[in-house]
Amino acid sequence: MTTIQNWTHQAAFYERVVRLELHGLHFQHIELCERRAWMYLHKINFAQWHERVATGTAKHETSYSRDYSTEGLFGLAPDRIDWENGVVYENKGTAGAKEASNNQTAFYAVMLAIATGKEWRAVTHVLSTRKRREVVLDAARLQSLWEAAGRLEELAGQREVPAGAAIPLCGTCSLERFCGFE
Ligand code: SF4
Repeated sequence: MTTIQNWTHQAAFYERVVRLELHGLHFQHIELCERRAWMYLHKINFAQWHERVATGTAKHETSYSRDYSTEGLFGLAPDRIDWENGVVYENKGTAGAKEASNNQTAFYAVMLAIATGKEWRAVTHVLSTRKRREVVLDAARLQSLWEAAGRLEELAGQREVPAGAAIPLCGTCSLERFCGFE
């Protein structure tokens, strides 16, 4: 059975996360919209995009300040960590975008497992229903994270912003105007 501790991609995944300074939200965004993930990776918001286009200085920029206040946690920012029982929790307002939020929560558990050498559990806490959703860290979930990290690396090195498509998320996305999906 594949566990985080015997996962063949463990070292490469960790290296990629550290090198690209990936956070949980990267793993959420990449599931939802590559355009949004690209903007987040390059730390570009709508106002900055206007400025860059105007001056012709658009370029990739993957370096952004990282929160090292949780040194030893790789700048991770899960909502709650139960150190005693090895469980990491991520709060979500609603139960929507299940796979995206599951990958975000799973990412935290994987990184904690790599750091501590122990298996961790991941739980998404849905605030609107007060329900807890266990994210099973099986081979399929680890493969999903591995593929997401690979796609994030490709996007980090990609100069052009990917095409966007109108999806339900657009209505609550801060890039809605930029994408023209108002
Ligand atoms: S507005 Fe829609 S297409 Fe544009 S980045 Fe946001 S989610 Fe993606």
